[in-house]
Amino acid sequence: MTLSVSAFGLYVCLLGLSSLHMIKVVLKRKIAPRVLLGHPWIFANEVERVEGELSGGEVVVVYTHDQKFVGQGYANPRSQIVVRLLTRDAGAVIDESFFLEKLRSCWEYRKRIGYTENCRLVFGEADGLPQLIIDKFNDYFVLQTLALGIDRWKPALVNALQELFAPKGIYERNDVPVRELEGLPQQKGFLSEPFDTRIIIEENGLRFYVDLAQGQKTGYFLDQQDNRRAIRSIVKDADVLGAFTYTGTFEIHAAHYGARSVLGLDISAQAVAQANENARLNGLQDRCRFEEANAFDVLKQWAKEKKQFDVVMLDPPAFTKSRATLQKAITGYKEINLRGMKLVKPGGFLVTSSCTNLVPPELFLEIIAMAAKDARRSIRQVCFQTQSPDHPIIPAMENTHYLKFLIIQVQ
Ligand code: SAH
Repeated sequence: MTLSVSAFGLYVCLLGLSSLHMIKVVLKRKIAPRVLLGHPWIFANEVERVEGELSGGEVVVVYTHDQKFVGQGYANPRSQIVVRLLTRDAGAVIDESFFLEKLRSCWEYRKRIGYTENCRLVFGEADGLPQLIIDKFNDYFVLQTLALGIDRWKPALVNALQELFAPKGIYERNDVPVRELEGLPQQKGFLSEPFDTRIIIEENGLRFYVDLAQGQKTGYFLDQQDNRRAIRSIVKDADVLGAFTYTGTFEIHAAHYGARSVLGLDISAQAVAQANENARLNGLQDRCRFEEANAFDVLKQWAKEKKQFDVVMLDPPAFTKSRATLQKAITGYKEINLRGMKLVKPGGFLVTSSCTNLVPPELFLEIIAMAAKDARRSIRQVCFQTQSPDHPIIPAMENTHYLKFLIIQVQ
């Protein structure tokens, strides 16, 4: 008894010592309520003073101007976002086991909401692990550490994945420009023993090749998993056109759900080859084929030729990455949706997505309404959804709500 009490005393004392040695970041008196309401980012212009010397990447403790504890997080003096909070618990010890327990609870959540094979295991800030992305593709994992603070913990994250999943392979896809804002190099490669990075995953009973090393982003877009099922009824017996198809997942779902014919277009030859292979993998190549094309040009041309489809599906990339060029994105979405709508038979459907957080849901609906007006078509909303729940949304962080998925009927 005496022993355990004194061991506890020693532990508390060490804890105290460790936080004593931590660098303190003190916020200005007038800061946006954002931080106290749950937003984990502290911008450089919100900091009154730093007690200690920041080298970058270390865990610091954040206080309000009147010495109230705010949280602990990783710092980077090179970044506009000088601290990203990891916890609001003053007693939490940020060590290897902190990350192991975090990953364990991320997996518990995904299992709770029904994921077994493929899912985004960690969705950064929405999982309390700022700038960390981990995608799970059955026994394989793809990891992105997009801030200096989390990049430091890569070995701990790999150990945690090994302990929780004993995976067949772990791959790093840090070939992302945003890392440069943190002073980090772009890089990719194995974080486990090398393995064949071309794997097959199963989604909604269909099979897809995914190239973890060469594919876009982490290799596959998991955020549309549930939305792909939403097209089930409308594509039955339909002639379907898909544009921006990448691995061809929406289109292959359409063929599987009973479409009469499916044509998919993508500007990337590599994507088209992969999509055609995926159609073959599912024995759907006779009804589902993919061609290399610029969707903007082809859709315009076909509208002139008065081509018609029962269902048109669009899933373009984010047309902008910064608020400064938001107008470019608005124009892009309006233009492509206008062209898509013109190709829909009266009474048919347009399935359309937008994946940039810079266009909020209301604005996206407005853009679609503007496109309909210009196309002189009347529309009604069938369903309006967001990303699948393995990418949870934090109300205090608008940018976690990024995907818009809309089905409209077009008259
Ligand atoms: N629908 C896919 C994801 C699409 S990602 C899925 O569910 O997984 C966007 C795709 O648009 C990329 O494959 C990219 O190559 C393609 N793309 C970009 N610009 C294009 C253009 N102008 N015409 C056709 N495809 C384009």
